[in-house]
Amino acid sequence: MAFRDDRHRPAGRRESPAAHGKGWLASAGEWFTESLAPGLGEWFTESLVPGLKDLVYPPRPLCPFCGQPFTPARGILLCPGCLQRLPLVQPPVCRVCGKPLRLSGAAGDKCQDCARYRHFFGMARAVGLFDGALREGIHQLKYQGRRALGEAFASLMFSRLNAEPQMRRPGLLIPVPISPEKLERRGFNQAALLAQGIGSRLGRPVAMDGLRRGRDTPAQNRLDARQRRRNIAGAFTATAPAAVSGRSVLLIDDVYTTGATADECARALLRAGAREVNVLTLAVGVLDRHWLGAGFPPA
Ligand SMILES: [Zn+2]
Ligand SMILES: [Zn+2]
Repeated sequence: MAFRDDRHRPAGRRESPAAHGKGWLASAGEWFTESLAPGLGEWFTESLVPGLKDLVYPPRPLCPFCGQPFTPARGILLCPGCLQRLPLVQPPVCRVCGKPLRLSGAAGDKCQDCARYRHFFGMARAVGLFDGALREGIHQLKYQGRRALGEAFASLMFSRLNAEPQMRRPGLLIPVPISPEKLERRGFNQAALLAQGIGSRLGRPVAMDGLRRGRDTPAQNRLDARQRRRNIAGAFTATAPAAVSGRSVLLIDDVYTTGATADECARALLRAGAREVNVLTLAVGVLDRHWLGAGFPPA
């Protein structure tokens, strides 16, 4: 899919080799402009030549991070340079919540959190760490409304999902809802945007309003795990029990931190009859910075 967001296209630059190397179409236009009919020539160069050129060299999508044209590989809608800058989650990860064990303290094949606390969801996995370029990208998607980033992120999440045999065939996808107040302010729910992108690639239905978020809970970022659980308890309701009953549900969100939100959503869905709930997020937050090894985050 080609991005139509041209805001980051460098001025005066076109992606086809014809423009750089003065292909025959551009040369013809120039000749026409300079020697025959200046006005007509300009029209030829500016309107007709690009159109013809697109037939010969279909325009490549522009990377939503850096604005440069690139050729998508394996369905990833991000240029290789920007992909390399993302702090992708590296194994080994906690078999329950998917946090890198190197960063969250290991207790066997589980992290310290999951060894202590039993989650309602089955397993959670994330594409990258909530840090560096990924954190910046999520910020731009949410607060600057750069939706082209949502498509790129969905392509990454789909690719991550395919690496997890136990998660990759859900019956239904449901995004974690944001409060009506936030929806009003932001104009869209980033989790819903991601769920749509993943669902269409997966060929599975997405219940956009499968969960409803009641009250606007206070911001979670300064709370510890227990406070987060208390803060968010009872915040979600499954709106269509018949749709989730007996099915494996894949819950979609942008960031997983302590799992409190994912757990509350999973609890509501299990109560409504879901067979199991797994979680896929774009990023996983590592709360305690002292867990991070030396040299992290990368400069
Ligand atoms: Zn890029
Ligand atoms: Zn864990």
